[in-house]
Amino acid sequence: MRLSQFHLATVKEVPADAEIASHRLMLRAGMIRKLAAGLYTWSPLGLRVLRKVEAVVREEMNRAGAVEILMPTIQPRELWEETGRWEKFGGQLLKIKDRKEQEFCYAPTAEEVVTDFARNELKSYKQLPVNFYQIQTKFRDEIRPRFGVMRAREFLMKDAYSFHLTQESLAQTYDAMYQAYSRIFTRLGLTFRAVQADTGAIGGNASHEFQVLADSGEDALVFSDGSDYAANIEKAEALAPTAARPAPAAELKRVDTPTQKTIEDVAAFLQVSPTQCVKTILVRGGKGLVALCVRGDHEVNEVKAGKLAELPGESVLAGEEEILAVTGTRPGFIGPAGLPAEIPVIVDRDAAVLADFVCGGNQDGTHYTGANWERDARITRVEDIRKVVAGDASPDGKGTLQLARGIEVGHVFQLGSKYAEALDATVLDENGKAKVMLMGCYGVGISRIVAAAIEQRHDEAGIIWPEPMAPWRVAVCVINPKHSPEVAQAAESLYAELSRRGIETVLDDRGLRPGAMFADMELIGIPHRVVVSERGLAAGTLEYRARHEAEARAITRDELFTLLD
Ligand code: ATP
Ligand code: MG
Repeated sequence: MRLSQFHLATVKEVPADAEIASHRLMLRAGMIRKLAAGLYTWSPLGLRVLRKVEAVVREEMNRAGAVEILMPTIQPRELWEETGRWEKFGGQLLKIKDRKEQEFCYAPTAEEVVTDFARNELKSYKQLPVNFYQIQTKFRDEIRPRFGVMRAREFLMKDAYSFHLTQESLAQTYDAMYQAYSRIFTRLGLTFRAVQADTGAIGGNASHEFQVLADSGEDALVFSDGSDYAANIEKAEALAPTAARPAPAAELKRVDTPTQKTIEDVAAFLQVSPTQCVKTILVRGGKGLVALCVRGDHEVNEVKAGKLAELPGESVLAGEEEILAVTGTRPGFIGPAGLPAEIPVIVDRDAAVLADFVCGGNQDGTHYTGANWERDARITRVEDIRKVVAGDASPDGKGTLQLARGIEVGHVFQLGSKYAEALDATVLDENGKAKVMLMGCYGVGISRIVAAAIEQRHDEAGIIWPEPMAPWRVAVCVINPKHSPEVAQAAESLYAELSRRGIETVLDDRGLRPGAMFADMELIGIPHRVVVSERGLAAGTLEYRARHEAEARAITRDELFTLLD
């Protein structure tokens, strides 16, 4: 490609809302342009990278035996009614009407449509297993679209759906997809981990997320230092403490804490450790408020809490008004001792072994010291409801947990019969009996991968692409071609030879000053840069620099070809 014929449009300034490196660099390199919140146009440069990722994903899906289809992005309401998700999917679902007032949604995912396809196409167990995939645009009306294409509203996803007669077959395809994903992210040159993931409202047996490790990642992950245990923090179990609860030794005493509302303030004021305090969170359950109690240094895990029978689906914090109305106390002073009897008290396993603890006094401006379970505070049930922290024992009993942050780029899921049952997708088994199929689903965030790779690989000057994702492998920069026909000719000949050898090359023939040209090539992250100049020609060499190296060096044409082969 000749840059003079390409639309490269790098920019100096980026908007202040570009908070993370990948978002800033994608804008500066001119890979994407914002149309509206969470909606982006991919420029020619950005699209080259997106297509590279797409190609690797497609190759590995095909290699793993999946077959490609293409489903519409507009899906009819009736189909979503069959699974109950027209209502349940919530605000992320973009609903639209046609001129006949028929309702549709823009695909956030395609379980309904693919299961409809499967129930019409698949009649016999002999057609199974089969794994259909597509690479298609999705729309989710995210509450907070941000970080550019990382969390966009419209984005490109590879979604695959497999159909099976038996659980063994599902487990086999799940494993094949797990392997395919590992190959995809390895090939793309990313540092990633597969972690156990929560199966959420969908249920099912197994789920793993593929996470690109990056400090800016939205997901918290935990790893054991003594085994290969790795999980999303949402999923990680906090093991029950081994020590039993000591017997009460102190009297229950109300103390004034006029302005101390947070655990940190209360603990500092009363000169106790937060580990000796109980933190009480009131959430809205199906039948009124529910109290969640964790140790002062711990946090409630909302996903675990969401699974409590009292809190179907999600835990929503109670509002100040509501708390005041039910308890007569403002948030900050709530505790398990003396809470109204109708509020269930769910206590985390670590909080449940405390004795003589500090907790809210259920009276504005006061806390209790010397509080004890059973004697002073009711326990409805003890459960694992906290987030694990660094240093906790690994749930598999081997080693301790470490924390890291990640960007979710892929998700594999054993769905079981949920969708096939709702849509009555059956096949005839060996005995001619209709059987509901089992399903797996497997997603890759193609556009998110582009941002995730940059997040992991960049420096002050710009992007450092792993070669399989780079828009071009080599940039040939020509110095002053107008003044020297020899230089122009040498650059043309080098460009032609690299192209002949099948090496993707961009010729920077825009006639820019060297500084501006080099800055652009560094910003857009081309792995190999070669400079053709009068001085080099005289010496019979080219100036070469790898994007990740600090210094340029002189090499011959042949050395360059060897290096790139
Ligand atoms: P997240 O927790 O990040 O919202 P999700 O669990 O909703 O992701 P899935 O439904 O599993 O995501 O979708 C499959 C893949 O699509 C994800 O692993 C992710 O890489 C990508 N993805 C999901 N939402 C977005 C988005 N808003 N923008 C870009 N990519 C996305
Ligand atoms: Mg999401």
